[in-house]
Amino acid sequence: MSRKQAFQFLDLPRTMPQRIPVELRTSGDWGELYGKFGKEDAQFQAGRCLDCGNPYCSWKCPVHNAIPQWLQLVQENRIHEAATLCHSTNPLPEVCGRVCPQDRLCEGSCTLEEFGAVTIGAVEKYIVDTALATGWRPDMTAVEPTGKRVAVIGAGPAGLACADKLAHAGIQAVVYDRYEQIGGLLQFGIPSFKLDKAVISRRRNVLEGMGVQFRLGVEIGRDVSVDQLLAEYDAVFVGTGAYRYTDGGLLGQDLKGVLPALPFLVQNSRIVGGSDAHGRPIAGWEDQIALPDLEGKRVVVLGGGDTGMDCVRSAVRLGAAKVTCAYRRDEANMPGSAREVANAREEGVRFLFNRQPLSIEAGADDEVIGVMVVETRLDEPDAQGRRNAVPIEGSESLLEADVVIIAFGFSPSTPAWLTERGVEAGHNGRIIAGGKDRLPFQTAHPRLFAGGDAVRGADLVVTAVAEGRDAAASIAQLLAV
Ligand code: FAD
Ligand code: SF4
Repeated sequence: MSRKQAFQFLDLPRTMPQRIPVELRTSGDWGELYGKFGKEDAQFQAGRCLDCGNPYCSWKCPVHNAIPQWLQLVQENRIHEAATLCHSTNPLPEVCGRVCPQDRLCEGSCTLEEFGAVTIGAVEKYIVDTALATGWRPDMTAVEPTGKRVAVIGAGPAGLACADKLAHAGIQAVVYDRYEQIGGLLQFGIPSFKLDKAVISRRRNVLEGMGVQFRLGVEIGRDVSVDQLLAEYDAVFVGTGAYRYTDGGLLGQDLKGVLPALPFLVQNSRIVGGSDAHGRPIAGWEDQIALPDLEGKRVVVLGGGDTGMDCVRSAVRLGAAKVTCAYRRDEANMPGSAREVANAREEGVRFLFNRQPLSIEAGADDEVIGVMVVETRLDEPDAQGRRNAVPIEGSESLLEADVVIIAFGFSPSTPAWLTERGVEAGHNGRIIAGGKDRLPFQTAHPRLFAGGDAVRGADLVVTAVAEGRDAAASIAQLLAV
């Protein structure tokens, strides 16, 4: 490495691609917040990498991307080779570059942190967007078809990553999803200001070009049985996600004007994307929710995770007059990504920390008038370092609201159609996969594999990708190809 390169981080600050101005965001612009690096910016930012001997960024990245190596290729403008290297570890690199909480993962462990971490995620997005726009596609010329066929249940990141790696192993992957489009929460949960839906359509084209087939609008266990899949295919991968809503049991939560977070985001994504707002309902909410008009309304979102951040920022774009996020712990103990909290603040969202909701209050006509909250203090950390919120007696107050969105989180539920085939359900509804005398991600049924949120509980896109990818390797091993 030249001396000039070695000290580039001192001369050039960390920069992110330009963002959509806040005035546009708060007046209803649903476009991706961050723009794209041009060639020069990407090369400069990549050139800030120190190329450490032991790259912590790669270790902290759940798919263990070869980050310093592809940053070097970017500096040399060898973008197609960089894209090949990105895809060798991560079947959805352009998605992860956009939605990973990099501040907690790769960038959070960059040696340069004190000087501003290398903008790894934005460069990853640059590499793959540029490569795909200039004709790069996964090289399948050396793949030998094995004649084996695998059904993948769920077209979320776990299922898509599994299908990609099965295709590379010469195994025909057929992906089933109950929704009308692929992507799972990438398509219907994560709003378009974080992930443009055209990115998912483009990925669908890439996967179809590799021979992956999709059967959409088909719910396994309802339209097609798992027995039919086991009869037709050599193995089955289950990547059905986590959709069981955490019920806070709040008095008044069934009032009109109280919305559960996920149906709110799904319906809204369908409307913003111009698709049928009455597509297949979210499991558990078969009565499709009608989205209220938020224009001019006071909206309170309960919950401080990424889902809560997506709700507050969506409410801003839907014209709400005042948007408040109430969270029972303090800011330091908030689960949502710091970057998303900063973006929400910039868009005018007000945060009320140390507030625990007690009930949702109604007026004379049963309309929501607000949330009764109590102030909290944090007690000493438990064995996991987590600090419980303890209510402070006598500190109750009414937080006025016209609409309340509840974003308390999700957990999986192992369906009966799996347990009836011998698959074990573990803590909090998770599918048990892997363990003693089994291949990684293999369930108690030898031809049924599982991964992603359905197995680990609600987590991240990149961890779902890692599990789908590794499950495909186990399936290939089982089928001895
Ligand atoms: P999913 O993405 O949930 O996909 C599962 C798929 O299985 C769905 O398409 C579903 O329709 C299908 N399915 C389920 N049952 C059946 C059946 N019986 N038959 C057919 N199909 C079925 N993570 C990040 O890293 N960054 C973020 O910014 C981020 N933001 C988020 C915002 C929200 C609002 C939410 C809810 C989550 C967010 N996450 C984020 C988490 C991330 O989206 C998930 O961890 C990830 O999508 C899990 O992938 P998966 O493939 O396991 O499941
Ligand atoms: Fe960072 Fe996520 Fe990319 Fe890994 S996949 S390098 S954690 S942005």
